[in-house]
Amino acid sequence: MKSAFILLILFFAGCANSTHNTKAGKTKSNLMKPKVNKPEEEWEKILTPQQFYILRKKGTDLPGTGAYTYHFEQGVYKCAGCGASLFYSDNKYESHCGWPSFDNAIEGAVVMQPDYSHNMIRTEILCANCGGHLGHIFDDGPVETTGKRYCVNSTSLSFEKSDE
Ligand SMILES: [Zn+2]
Repeated sequence: MKSAFILLILFFAGCANSTHNTKAGKTKSNLMKPKVNKPEEEWEKILTPQQFYILRKKGTDLPGTGAYTYHFEQGVYKCAGCGASLFYSDNKYESHCGWPSFDNAIEGAVVMQPDYSHNMIRTEILCANCGGHLGHIFDDGPVETTGKRYCVNSTSLSFEKSDE
């Protein structure tokens, strides 16, 4: 009786192994190759819980709550994850949408990709250097400049004031 039980276990173990062998190869997208490529466990250690939620889990700050929504000093807004320079304060404007808004990003600093989450078709913006989620880009920006609104979570940003 005992040996029959062991045989049964071996039989199921054999089945499990054969299904593992047919496991599909890597399907992860190669569209974006960030220069900083840390495992998520490492990001979780170095970021605050809110930064991890926004940058790595594509979360969103509650409107009007972020540190930089109504912040208009001269300087550079950097990625809170990797420190890459993303936006100049000269490109920041008051959009009244509840999040920091810019009409342009520093060239090559931000990448875009389609985002179909929450039953919407939007364009996500990410830090080109580390792949951190920044926010979304919309076409309702100031017409006198680019017409674009880079809508960014304050949590994704850190600010470096310029000297003059
Ligand atoms: Zn970054």
